[in-house]
Amino acid sequence: MLMDDVKKILISQEEIDARCKELGKQISEDYSDTVPVVIGLLKGSVPFMAELIKNITIDCELEFMAVSSYSGTESMGDVKIVKDLDRSIIDCDVLIVEDIVDTGNTLLKVKDLLYSKGARSVRVVSLLDKPSRRLVDIEAEYIGFTIPNEFVIGFGLDFNQKYRNLPFVGVLKEECYR
Ligand code: 5GP
Repeated sequence: MLMDDVKKILISQEEIDARCKELGKQISEDYSDTVPVVIGLLKGSVPFMAELIKNITIDCELEFMAVSSYSGTESMGDVKIVKDLDRSIIDCDVLIVEDIVDTGNTLLKVKDLLYSKGARSVRVVSLLDKPSRRLVDIEAEYIGFTIPNEFVIGFGLDFNQKYRNLPFVGVLKEECYR
């Protein structure tokens, strides 16, 4: 059972659902005069994006990109675009959906790329924020939860592609890293 690998639950499904309601309401208010292009970063953002968009009550368009920078539990710093957008975002208001902002390298790269493609505005909504690990000066405009410096899994977040389907954010048992 997947649950046997979990040391503790950090953020429950109920807490995530409640926070998504609040974020959805705020985003709907902030983007009420435009149709934002909501871009999920695959694969970690998928469960969060699915929950969040149910609570966005204005028109929006959905897109996906895939970037890679992680191997195991450490960011490699070097961010690669694995799947690019297949449409124009010129003059669009873009909202990036991310699972977690850690060093900030991923977001810096993706934000720059989207501006270079002609986006009018680029903001970020992230389920989690780990500010103590930041290496570059970047913040998400909308944050679900700020967490301490612990490697987390679940609700989209993986360890070697596993645990994304857990319905909460948790911490792995140490023996699972070895
Ligand atoms: P950054 O570029 O900000 O260092 O890292 C962003 C990406 O690293 C996230 O989208 C996520 O995929 C991965 N990441 C960062 N911290 C964690 C963590 O605690 N757990 C997991 N599973 N992935 C993480």
